[in-house]
Amino acid sequence: MSNKSHKYVGAHVSASGGVENAPVNAHNIGAKAFALFTKNQRQWVAAPLSDRSIGLFKDRCAEYGYAPEHILPHDSYLINLGNPDNEGLEKSRAAFLDEMKRCEQLGLKYLNFHPGSHLKKISEERCMDIIAESVNMALGETKDVVAVIENTAGQGSNMGYRFEHLAYIIDRIEDKSRVGVCLDTAHTLASGYEIRTAEAYAETFARFDSIVGYGYLKGIHLNDSKKELATRVDRHDSVGKGVMGMELFKLIMDDPHLDFIPIILETPDESLWAHEIETLYSLQTL
Ligand SMILES: [Zn+2]
Ligand SMILES: [Zn+2]
Repeated sequence: MSNKSHKYVGAHVSASGGVENAPVNAHNIGAKAFALFTKNQRQWVAAPLSDRSIGLFKDRCAEYGYAPEHILPHDSYLINLGNPDNEGLEKSRAAFLDEMKRCEQLGLKYLNFHPGSHLKKISEERCMDIIAESVNMALGETKDVVAVIENTAGQGSNMGYRFEHLAYIIDRIEDKSRVGVCLDTAHTLASGYEIRTAEAYAETFARFDSIVGYGYLKGIHLNDSKKELATRVDRHDSVGKGVMGMELFKLIMDDPHLDFIPIILETPDESLWAHEIETLYSLQTL
């Protein structure tokens, strides 16, 4: 049985003006979980976090009741841990390590990332080998942050659009206690997994469990999709406005496998987030 108090729904909120603003923004929309960027996601280099920002971030998370396991920071879109070019790979690895360290400084537990892209220069396997090596390097230089691989829509040359990709990478991570997975509902549908009916949802999640395993599932990105099944195009939509239909969201809210993990909206209209969170909780029947 699921239970209202076991679901941690929130959104990827703004950290503009400083990471310490993210928990306030999350609290203001009634979120019980949140995601954030710990630095400007479109720049390679950022100033280190100040002691003041770190202190305020921790104080406010405690004040508003956000535990580290309900906060799912997302890495920069510039990072490609499977980059076939040496210069780009080194830059990505340095930036990823910096993000891991920022998470550690903030007392956070997870760092959510997109696996990487082969840029049509190397095979998918070679790209995933490089990704795993990149993650192992970052884990070797940090203590306890878990690297959370997000499944992708498979747009362009992005890896991570099959559950087998996630399993392949996990297999090659030395410390299994520090790797996890985040499933994005829009990416799941666009990459070719049907999830919009109770039957399809059960089948897709059973496949996920047998290939990857629920034990690795650390978060959900809950998004509607502008794009149809297997289009391999990544376009999020607001809850109820895309091709998903409300049944999926109800299934998620009633799924006990998704209890206690952050369920994060990355929907495009942030003025709707408070309403979307309320709607999602209202869908729960169990
Ligand atoms: Zn993402
Ligand atoms: Zn996502």
